[in-house]
Amino acid sequence: MTDVYRDIPTLDDLGDVAGKRVLVRTDFNVPMETSASGERVITDDFRIRAALPTINWLTERGASVVCASHLGRPKGAPEPKYSMEPVRRRLAELAPGVELLENVRFHAGEEANDPAFVAELVADVDAFVNDAFGAAHRAHASIVGPPRTLPSAMGQLLQREVEVLLHLRHRPKHPFVAVLGGSKISDKLGVVEALLDVVDALVIGGAMCFTFMAAQGLPIGDSLFEPDQVDTCRRLLAQAKPIHLPEDITGVDADGNYVTFGRRLPPGAKGFDIGPGSAAAFSDIIMDSRTVFWNGPMGMFEDERFANGTRTVAQAMADTKAFTVVGGGDSAAALAQFDLDDRIDHVSTGGGASLELLELGDLPGLDALRKAPNAR
Ligand code: ADP
Ligand code: MG
Repeated sequence: MTDVYRDIPTLDDLGDVAGKRVLVRTDFNVPMETSASGERVITDDFRIRAALPTINWLTERGASVVCASHLGRPKGAPEPKYSMEPVRRRLAELAPGVELLENVRFHAGEEANDPAFVAELVADVDAFVNDAFGAAHRAHASIVGPPRTLPSAMGQLLQREVEVLLHLRHRPKHPFVAVLGGSKISDKLGVVEALLDVVDALVIGGAMCFTFMAAQGLPIGDSLFEPDQVDTCRRLLAQAKPIHLPEDITGVDADGNYVTFGRRLPPGAKGFDIGPGSAAAFSDIIMDSRTVFWNGPMGMFEDERFANGTRTVAQAMADTKAFTVVGGGDSAAALAQFDLDDRIDHVSTGGGASLELLELGDLPGLDALRKAPNAR
C-alpha cells in the first residue's frame, strides 16, 4: 500500500487496551424519519452496524468504549430532532455496555475545532480511535483534536475505506471507469479533474450531465444545471480522456408528459433520468471494465418513473467482474433500494470523504492520526 496509509497507526498500534477507556469517533449520522406518533426512528442502521467490528475489537480486549458522533446539521446548540437518543437505544442492542456521547455538533466548539471542546472530549480518556470515515474530511474537534494528545488509531472501517480508495487512486486495474451522477456538480468537479488523471474514461449521468451538455451547446430545456460551471465542463470535455454523456434523456415535456428525448431537449422540458439507450450503453461500459467507481444516481430515482437509469447502472455494478466501489449516500441508498448492495465489492460509508480522498489522496482526519504521539 502507499505511504499515505502505512504511517497511520492502526488498532494494533494502541498497545494493550485492557482496562483503558477508549473514545471512538464513529459516523452514526443515520437516516431518520418522524413516526406518526412524533418519535424519531432510524430508517437504516447500516452506519451503526458498520462500526461494530472496531467496537468489538476493543471490548473483546478489555477496553471500555465511549462513542462520539455527529447527527444531522444542528447549528452548534442542542436540537431535539438531532438527539442521539434513538441511536443510543439501537447501539445498546447491538453493543451492550458501550457508551455514546450526545451529538458532538450540539457544541459550537465541534465545527470550530475549539481546543476547549477537545479538552472536554479527551478528559478521562486513555486512547482515541477514529472510525468515522464519513467525517474524516472535516477538520472538526472530534476528528483532529484527540490525536494531538492521545495514543490514536484508525478503526477497521476507516482502514478499509482508506485501503480501497487509495488502491483506486494509485494502482487500479485497467480499464478503470468512473461513473458520476447526482445533483451537485460544483461539489464534484474537483474530483472529476483528479479522476481524469487515473481513469480511462468518465461516464456522466444525473443532473450533472446537463451542465456538460450545455457546454456542448445542446439545448437542455429547463433541466437542472449550473451556469457558472459550463466553462469548466467545456475545458474538461476538451482534454484527451473520453467523457461519455447520455445519448437520450427521460423526463417531462413542457406540458408535464412523460417523454424520452434525444440529446436535444425542447423548451420547457426537464430531464430527470438518462434514457434507456444511455442506460444500456453505460451498462456495457461497466461490464467491460476491470475497476469501476460509481458516485451519484443517474436520475431522480426516488421517483419510480425516473429510476430506470440508476437501476440499470446498479445492476451492471452488481453483474460486472470488475472491482466495484460505490461512494455517496444517495448512491448507496439506491443500491439498497434495489437490493444489490451486497453484490458490490465496497460500498463506502462516506460520500464527500470518498470523493475527497480520491481527489487529494489524504484527509484532515488521517493527517491528524499520522501525527499522534504513538505514530511511527
Ligand atoms: P450522492 O449522495 O450519491 O453523492 P448526490 O447527493 O450528488 O448523490 O445526488 C443525489 C440526488 O440527485 C438524488 O436525490 C437525485 O434525485 C438527484 N438527481 C439525479 N439526477 C437528477 C436530475 N436529472 N434532476 C434532478 N435531480 C436529480
Ligand atoms: Mg447525496
